[in-house]
Amino acid sequence: MAKPFRNGDLRVMEQRRCTYDKCGGCMMCEKSYEQTLREKKKYIEELLSKFCKVNEISSMYYPYNYRNKVHSTFGKTQKGGITTGIYKEGTHEIVPIDKCLINDKKADEIILTIRNLANEFKMQAYDEDRHTGLLRHVMVRRGASSRQIMVVLVTPTENFPSRKNFVAKLLELHPDITTVIQSINPAATSMVLGNYEKVLYGKGYIEDTLMGYTFRISARSFYQVNKSQTEMLYKTAINGLGLTGKESVIDAYCGIGTISLAVSKNARYVIGVELNLEAVKDAKENAKRNNIKNVSFFCDDAGDYMLELASEGKRIDAVIMDPPRSGSTTQFMDSVVRMSPDKIAYISCNPETLARDLNYFTIKGYRVKECTPVDMFGFTKHVEVVCILTK
Ligand code: SAH
Repeated sequence: MAKPFRNGDLRVMEQRRCTYDKCGGCMMCEKSYEQTLREKKKYIEELLSKFCKVNEISSMYYPYNYRNKVHSTFGKTQKGGITTGIYKEGTHEIVPIDKCLINDKKADEIILTIRNLANEFKMQAYDEDRHTGLLRHVMVRRGASSRQIMVVLVTPTENFPSRKNFVAKLLELHPDITTVIQSINPAATSMVLGNYEKVLYGKGYIEDTLMGYTFRISARSFYQVNKSQTEMLYKTAINGLGLTGKESVIDAYCGIGTISLAVSKNARYVIGVELNLEAVKDAKENAKRNNIKNVSFFCDDAGDYMLELASEGKRIDAVIMDPPRSGSTTQFMDSVVRMSPDKIAYISCNPETLARDLNYFTIKGYRVKECTPVDMFGFTKHVEVVCILTK
């Protein structure tokens, strides 16, 4: 494990000062990085040590500027201008943010440019109560290896006056942007992106490399935000399964197929299942572009899909599951138990639902053999965990 940066390091001290009012992001930034790791480990131990001894937390080498995806919301300033930032927790009030110590620096710069341009173009921030204004959100995603940059501008309707000039000006100031997308989201929801997109510049997606494979990533597809720790996470899960190359593997909640491709060389075949159609399209395209033939992807609810396989009497050797924060479902887990895989790698971004689901699996005859926390989101309260279960 790489030794983490000490906060006493001068370069780091410089960055550590967060000048913003609590935005709900890096809640732990006043603490030393080592302290945050100790607290995260303790939290995981409280929840999971009844199942298994908790391994040392896998820490980041440099816990700053790691977020490759940055999202900001537009809001009105008191002088009638437009700003970008984050909702103050529990309010509709925007805390303007110019830069954040965990965000990719380039992404922050681009968002600041967009804010300034929006003021120059006299654009209005969308007002959720009155349904007036143009700009709702901006999202910037940058490929950590490819350096390709996607900018997504979210508007309530298709109407986007001066769109051409706005994008031209933005590209002039940031020629390294590779694609610009307008996402149309009329709904009053906490979801940032809408279901309809217009490509304003470039290909409409970016590419990036992970675990030696290249991936196409669309705006609405999930993609982990921290490259080096994601690789650590995936390796921990794949190595934990100890595959020989002969196994049938299911990668459930597979997103754009990153884990499926990474595990494909250790398995006979891999099935990926994912609910988001855009992500499944990306996954299929990703298998093709990496010339991987022993992987197939299905767009379905993971629980429904597993139930179908179990009802057909299918057997499977190993399951990798990486559900959203709400965790898995009894339908999914029941079906897994019926298919009786020798091993399960459970990757979780929410230790509380993980504890609930481990409880279920252990009642049904599985044992938690390994439990490794991985710090993917330094200085925030979040922590990822990989558990290896055996029969
Ligand atoms: N394993 C991937 C994605 C993990 S995020 C990676 O590491 O990149 C969780 C994924 O679960 C998201 O892509 C989300 O779209 C998907 N998802 C959410 N609910 C689902 C469900 N009920 N069935 C299948 N997939 C689901």
